[in-house]
Amino acid sequence: MKIGIIGLGLIGGSILKKLAGFGHELYAVTRSHETLRHVESLVKSCSDKYEILSNCEVVFVCTPIGKILETLDRLEGIVPESCVVTDVASVKEFVTKKKYSFKFIPSHPMAGTENSGYGASFPELFVGAKWVLTPYDCPIDACEVKILLELVEQMGAKSIIADAKEHDKAVAMISHLPMYISQCLYNAFKDNKLAMKLASSGFRDTTRLAMTDLTLACDMLSFNGKNIQEAQNVFISELENLKSENYLEKITEISSSRRKMYNSDGKNIV
Ligand code: NAP
Repeated sequence: MKIGIIGLGLIGGSILKKLAGFGHELYAVTRSHETLRHVESLVKSCSDKYEILSNCEVVFVCTPIGKILETLDRLEGIVPESCVVTDVASVKEFVTKKKYSFKFIPSHPMAGTENSGYGASFPELFVGAKWVLTPYDCPIDACEVKILLELVEQMGAKSIIADAKEHDKAVAMISHLPMYISQCLYNAFKDNKLAMKLASSGFRDTTRLAMTDLTLACDMLSFNGKNIQEAQNVFISELENLKSENYLEKITEISSSRRKMYNSDGKNIV
């Protein structure tokens, strides 16, 4: 297929590197001259101009959350009406407000690392990960959804169709609030010199998300703030309640249920 990718950071770069292995004709839009040099051998064409996407059948918009709407607007009149366009932003409801001339299906790959930029991207990022599609302007069995499902599966991910609002609530619980807690946990104790010296794998693992890319972290908080606040309220009441009664019984249940959530490769098997 003729596939365009805009924004060659961690996610866009990983999509490009993976799809390059399947013989697709790839078109990459990047603002970086350095990235341009790196991807030349993988793509049919790369440029900082959106016009190279004019014959694409599918386009992945992989810019920061705060730039997604602007990027989608710029595609109007450039890509054909039949083109299937998806964005990969970690928040979904805000992109479902508008009708576009092309076939737009929002999506969100549930994979990432604390690193950003093309240098951090790798082709196996999506293998075994979930990839959420939130179609809002077409039926879920429309052919544009099927095209995207096939590409998602080609990248090794498992697709899930969800409502954008429900998606945003869910990611606030399992991704955005955990990042915020991780930042708070680190910040709360970082000045205790002995604690920092003693900190080992437990503290390392629970504060990994404190290193989330700064633009992404700020965007998550501003674009999904209400859902994060609601999740925070539930979490705070859990902090208060868990230790109160039947602690052993409760943590026995928590431990057993958490052990069943991931396989030995660290993939979510729920
Ligand atoms: P990233 O590594 O920083 O990549 C974003 C890319 O967008 C940059 O490399 C740059 O590409 C381009 N870009 C940066 N600023 C821009 C601007 N002002 N205008 C236009 N383009 C700009 O970030 P990422 O982690 O790949 O995130 C990209 C998208 O993926 C976000 O919408 C995010 O919500 C979503 N996402 C991230 C993760 C994660 O864990 N990181 C997971 C799932 C989804 P060029 O230099 O090539 O122009």
